[in-house]
Amino acid sequence: MNYGFRYGITQFVFGMTLNIVSVILLYTYFDYLWLILAFLIFKINNLIGVGYGLHMYYSHNTRNKFINKHLYLVFGFLSGIGRPLQFVRYHILHHKYSDTDKDLSSLKVNSVLELVSGWWVTKTIYYHNFDGYNLHLRLKYLLNNRLFMFVNNNYYLLHLSLILAVSLVSIKVALYFLILPIVFNILDANIIFTYLLHKTGKPVANNCISLWYLVKNSGKHNIHHKIFKE
Ligand SMILES: [Zn+2]
Ligand SMILES: [Zn+2]
Repeated sequence: MNYGFRYGITQFVFGMTLNIVSVILLYTYFDYLWLILAFLIFKINNLIGVGYGLHMYYSHNTRNKFINKHLYLVFGFLSGIGRPLQFVRYHILHHKYSDTDKDLSSLKVNSVLELVSGWWVTKTIYYHNFDGYNLHLRLKYLLNNRLFMFVNNNYYLLHLSLILAVSLVSIKVALYFLILPIVFNILDANIIFTYLLHKTGKPVANNCISLWYLVKNSGKHNIHHKIFKE
């Protein structure tokens, strides 16, 4: 089994399982007010953890100091969009090969269904040389980051332990504070990031969606790609 499939399939199963679990639990625990709360938590995890953290700080190595880098990692973890190192790998290659047939998150490689379902994360990704580009070297500063690698290597165990521990106290809290924000984050990554921001075949000049992100040099996606070339 190749590297990308092994890591991608875990994330795909994780996302799908939480999707099914959340639908089942919503029958019993549906609450409008709590749903708004879940959406707000998703937005916080998405903005701080993904937008500022995994994307700008860790993938583009911008060293922005919006908050402490460990908090970026905590919020990035809570977003549930995949092992942090895997996110960074995919994102670096996404910038290098944006909307070519080597871009793993592009419509040139996937069907719309493969993108929005999250199946695209199972596509092949080579660990070392990718067209002579040494990804391992590019990621060295992260491979030496012990906390980052601890979260990365124990990612699903940590998530399941946390969800289980909170469920023992309150299933409703686990559903609205942990599970639904993850479901929303994965949908956001698969529908908005991979599909809507690139569906024309190149990064789109983003419109109102960028306002959700409020992250410097990140919102307008076509400009973002121009600034951060690999
Ligand atoms: Zn980027
Ligand atoms: Zn892009």
